[in-house]
Amino acid sequence: MMFMDVVLMAIIAGAGLLLIILLRREVRRKTKSLLREILERRRVENEVREQRNVATTYLQVAGVMLCSLDARGQVTLINKKGLEILGYNDEQELLGRNWFDVAVPEAAVADVRGVFARMMAGDVGPVEYHENLVKTSRGEERLIAFHNALLHDSDGQVAGVFFSGDDITARKKAERELNLSRLRYQTLFDKASDGIMFMDKEGRIIGANESFARMHGYSVDEITTMNIRALIVNSNSRLVQERMAQIMQGETLQFEVTHITKDGRVVQQEISTSFITIGTEKFVQSFHRDITERKLLEGRLITIARSDALTQLPNRVCFLEKAGQEILRAKRTGHLCAVLFVDLDHFKNVNDTLGHSVGDELLKDSAAKLVTCIRETDILARLGGDEFSVLLSDLESINDAQAIAERIREKFNAPRIIVGNDLFVTASVGIAVHPSDGEHLEDLLKNADTAMYAAKASGRNTYCFFDQVMHENAASKMKVERYLRDALEKKEFALFYQPIVSMADGKVRGFEALLRWFKADGELVLPGEFIGVAEETGLIIAIGEWALHEACRFNKRLCDEGHAGLVMSVNMSVAQLRWKNLVGIIKSALDQSGLPPHLLEVEVTESLFIESLDEAIGVLNAIRDLGVHVSLDDFGTGYSSLVHLLKLPIGSLKIDRIFIREIARDGDENAMIPAIIDLAHKLKLQVIAEGVEAGAQVEKLLRDRCDYYQGYYLSKPIKADEVLPFLATH
Ligand code: C2E
Ligand code: MG
Ligand code: MG
Repeated sequence: MMFMDVVLMAIIAGAGLLLIILLRREVRRKTKSLLREILERRRVENEVREQRNVATTYLQVAGVMLCSLDARGQVTLINKKGLEILGYNDEQELLGRNWFDVAVPEAAVADVRGVFARMMAGDVGPVEYHENLVKTSRGEERLIAFHNALLHDSDGQVAGVFFSGDDITARKKAERELNLSRLRYQTLFDKASDGIMFMDKEGRIIGANESFARMHGYSVDEITTMNIRALIVNSNSRLVQERMAQIMQGETLQFEVTHITKDGRVVQQEISTSFITIGTEKFVQSFHRDITERKLLEGRLITIARSDALTQLPNRVCFLEKAGQEILRAKRTGHLCAVLFVDLDHFKNVNDTLGHSVGDELLKDSAAKLVTCIRETDILARLGGDEFSVLLSDLESINDAQAIAERIREKFNAPRIIVGNDLFVTASVGIAVHPSDGEHLEDLLKNADTAMYAAKASGRNTYCFFDQVMHENAASKMKVERYLRDALEKKEFALFYQPIVSMADGKVRGFEALLRWFKADGELVLPGEFIGVAEETGLIIAIGEWALHEACRFNKRLCDEGHAGLVMSVNMSVAQLRWKNLVGIIKSALDQSGLPPHLLEVEVTESLFIESLDEAIGVLNAIRDLGVHVSLDDFGTGYSSLVHLLKLPIGSLKIDRIFIREIARDGDENAMIPAIIDLAHKLKLQVIAEGVEAGAQVEKLLRDRCDYYQGYYLSKPIKADEVLPFLATH
């Protein structure tokens, strides 16, 4: 081998080595950078994976639906919440499917798809927010609040859409319900016929509806600047204050109250309140119902029930209530008050003779007169018929009551024209004073009534105070009534007979039967002591019936004993004559006794005619038609009206003993008696003088041509068994 070869070989070898070294170096460098590249890629991949994991986690845990669609509308991504809202379990059920087919309700598909297409074409920008319905796999519809963003590809072209969707179905429903209920409440509040009002603790009105404002004559704006106190009548009264305090303390109250309107009208309201707390503030809510009309109606009904239709005065019911309260008040305050009982004199006469319409007008006129006599604070009422009562309160002394009674007497003591009739109707007034004449209204009324009767008894057209004497009278009357009933049962009554003789020849005309009561202990009681009570209680009817039978029986006995032709006079009280069956009773007394009717005479007094003339004339005619005589007793003591004498079917009149008493024992001249006798004779009446006690009186009466007399001068009333001996000597 040649050196050259060797050199060449060496060079080649060296070069080769160098090449190898160089190659190795290059390889190492390349490997390194490859390695670095791989590592870098791995790092990036890891990062991306991590980021994707994070994104996926976010996606899955998000509380809203997250979803993306490609430009054709196919689902490319959907998270767990989205699946849940739409009713799917796995994303595979949705990925790749068309959103508009699976999730949009049929009715909306066309619209939504149109908008989506325009967005994808870049014709319109993304609708960033909208609320739309989606349909679920179960066919339900849910309302979703969508937020949208467009997706672009690397060329910047619209490639799809990414959106979030929040299921607001429940919230919207709640909202709608809330709105509805708000609307309902608002409508109720605005349109309610009841007034509704809110106020704060100070009573400031902070809210009110139309009705409340209208009820008070204000606008809602006006009234909501006011304080409730400005609307309440008597807002300073204790009741109102107390009630306000109760309401403010949270009590639920229902009550009636009187409010005043802008133009000063008064509105009765029924209110119910409740208390509401909003946060820390407290308010009162109240409902107001206008009950003015109802109250008016109620008031009218009460008025009707409590007032007298004729005079419009309070009636008995109302008087008892109002006066009762006044008396309770008087008890508390110690003030004096009095009850007046006012009764028209002879009212019945007017009613009977002139008719009820005149009677009614007279009552109305009397009511009006009474009103002018009393003070505004007094209570005047019509108790019924012609009876009125007055409660006088807060009297300084009884003189005040007397002054008012006097004023009433004066007012009535004057003629008045009622429906064209000239009437003179006076009043009798009884007065009972609280507390001396009674603690309670009933007692006062009863006692005032008794006093009124006393006023009548003392001649009418006057007033009378109830006093203890009257009370005792009344008490003893009650006792007498009890005894009288017993007496009738025990047959304690007897008849005495007083002879009536002819003035001319002393011949006995007959007897007047006079009632006597022999008590069990033998005590004799004269009629004056019990006839009045018997009349008031109606017992006189039974007693009188007995007396009539007894008198008829006795006279028949006298006839049978040979004394035929004697006339038996029996007294009749007004009560008996008013009794419808009187004629029947007389007839049966005659029938049972067998006494001829012309041997019976009934004595009546003028008081009968004062009550009712026509009625009395009717009864007396019927009695006369039986053949029985009628005689007018006590002539001159009553309302001796000569007109009566003309009209009455009477056969005789008895001059009362007060005229006879006038005749002095020495026979002094008296013009009255001859005048009466003269007139009676002209009317073809026989005249009988009562209570003749002296011979001079007999002489005078004889001169005056009196027909008959009776009296102690001749004989006192005698017992039945003394009659025959009397007749034997006369
Ligand atoms: P009257 O009908 O006027 O009877 C006459 C009264 O005068 C009788 O009183 C008689 O006793 C009395 N009297 C007779 N003569 C004299 C006299 O000379 N002097 C005095 N001072 N008095 C004399 P009496 O019996 O007490 O009766 C009183 C009244 O009672 C009667 O008055 C009559 O109105 C009534 N009365 C008597 N009996 C009955 C009766 O059966 N029924 C009814 N309804 N009333 C009767
Ligand atoms: Mg008589
Ligand atoms: Mg008489």
